[in-house]
Amino acid sequence: MNNAAPKHLTIIGAGLAGALLATLLARRGWQVDVYEKRGDPRQQGYQGGRSINLALAERGRHALRLAGADDAVMAQAVMMRGRMVHFLDGRTDLQRYGRDDSEVIWSVHRGELNLILLQIAEDAGAQLHFHRGLHSVDFERRLAVFHDDRDGSSHEIVFDSLVGADGAGSALRGAMKQAADLGERTEFLGHSYKELEIPPAADGGFSIEPNALHIWPRGRYMCIALPNDERTFTVTLFLPNEGEPSFASVRSGADARALFERDFADALPLIPQLEEDFERNPTGLLATLYLDRWHLDDRAVLLGDAAHAMVPFHGQGMNCAFEDCVALAERLLADDDRARAFAEFQARRLPSARAIQAMALENYLEMRDRVDDDDYLLQRALERELAERHPDRFMPRYAMVTFHRMPYEVAFERGQRQRELLVELTRGHDSLGSLDWDAVDATVCARLSPLPTDE
Ligand SMILES: Cc1cc2nc3c(=O)[nH]c(=O)nc-3n(C[C@H](O)[C@H](O)[C@H](O)COP(=O)(O)OP(=O)(O)OC[C@H]3O[C@@H](n4cnc5c(N)ncnc54)[C@H](O)[C@@H]3O)c2cc1C
Repeated sequence: MNNAAPKHLTIIGAGLAGALLATLLARRGWQVDVYEKRGDPRQQGYQGGRSINLALAERGRHALRLAGADDAVMAQAVMMRGRMVHFLDGRTDLQRYGRDDSEVIWSVHRGELNLILLQIAEDAGAQLHFHRGLHSVDFERRLAVFHDDRDGSSHEIVFDSLVGADGAGSALRGAMKQAADLGERTEFLGHSYKELEIPPAADGGFSIEPNALHIWPRGRYMCIALPNDERTFTVTLFLPNEGEPSFASVRSGADARALFERDFADALPLIPQLEEDFERNPTGLLATLYLDRWHLDDRAVLLGDAAHAMVPFHGQGMNCAFEDCVALAERLLADDDRARAFAEFQARRLPSARAIQAMALENYLEMRDRVDDDDYLLQRALERELAERHPDRFMPRYAMVTFHRMPYEVAFERGQRQRELLVELTRGHDSLGSLDWDAVDATVCARLSPLPTDE
């Protein structure tokens, strides 16, 4: 493709990543067409059907700033300073995520976020086509067929290149698989989730601390709750698929009530529609999707959940998808050779996706099982102390992932080395008072190189 060729791109999916990528390119003069299987949520209301709110962190905010969307999104976001842990005996403990209010995450409503992103994409000049679900692709003839769910009609378009931003069940991925081996592998977690709601208190305000991500850790399972700006909380119950308790044993609203009476007693009075929510809302499956290949020469590329869906326990799936959009837009803007741009995008982002997928899986264990464990709490106390003493070398992994933009794989690798240090330095101690700080400082300097800065 040479410089004179019109820069045109066809994006499948006007969800979070599709709308953001469309904006980044349309703002740079590209002709972008986005095809979305659902109707326009700006006209008919959002019908997302899953994970009502999401934690937005620095990586996502950086991408939103580049697209000119950060102010509008932040106007409806609720700050979460840390994890509010709810123990079985009813005690609570706020574990801050960062050093102060400059290191926090934000709860955003998926539907409102999608509306904002669609509007800025359209304002930037992208053409949005709703009720156009990708059905099949003829890669030889560069022809894509879409179905309209309202009347079952088919619509063909000719494309230069397709971008699959059509989520975990990507139809484009399905079509690409028929043309080439993508090395696809899906690993199911064996745990699923159900969403419930805490309505506002009688006075119209939040009924529990709004500026926190609430967690009820219970070993093999847990509940979390994120605030919404309309003063509600979305509660997500995570349970194994088998065993006791599990989605196999907790089947009805009455079973759910009994589980909450036993294990989440302080949450129960906050969820007046528990039985109805439990029975009405779908049970969502959790899985990690691995591909060895994200693109088909210059004809198609995948990003976001379509390329690397992950379990939600680091709150990074959307943040990572937004980072993908920035990386792909950068490559496309820098290189007229699309096959090369797609290959470089994959080379840069695939290791990052693998790293955050692994960290998301690890975080499930940490959230449900470790946040109330003594060894873990001592290691966390040392982690905070070392971050204070050696800000240029030691940074909690959570902070590297959440408040910074160093590649995920760097955060993963440094995090592993730091964890080994924390285990080693706290072994045989039950408080930080008994540590030999000169030896601790020397070990940190010997084992950890200075931290990279954000690009
Ligand atoms: C329970 C849960 C909690 C989560 N919490 C967080 C969190 O706190 N923070 C975070 O960063 N991430 C979180 N995530 C992950 C996040 O939801 C995803 O990573 C993110 O939505 C990925 O964006 P996407 O644009 O790739 O896909 P999606 O948001 O799924 O968008 C895909 C779009 O493509 C459309 N589409 C699908 N098929 C077709 C087709 N055939 N033709 C045309 N269009 C099609 C869909 O309608 C949709 O609009 C969570 C996920 C879950 C399940």
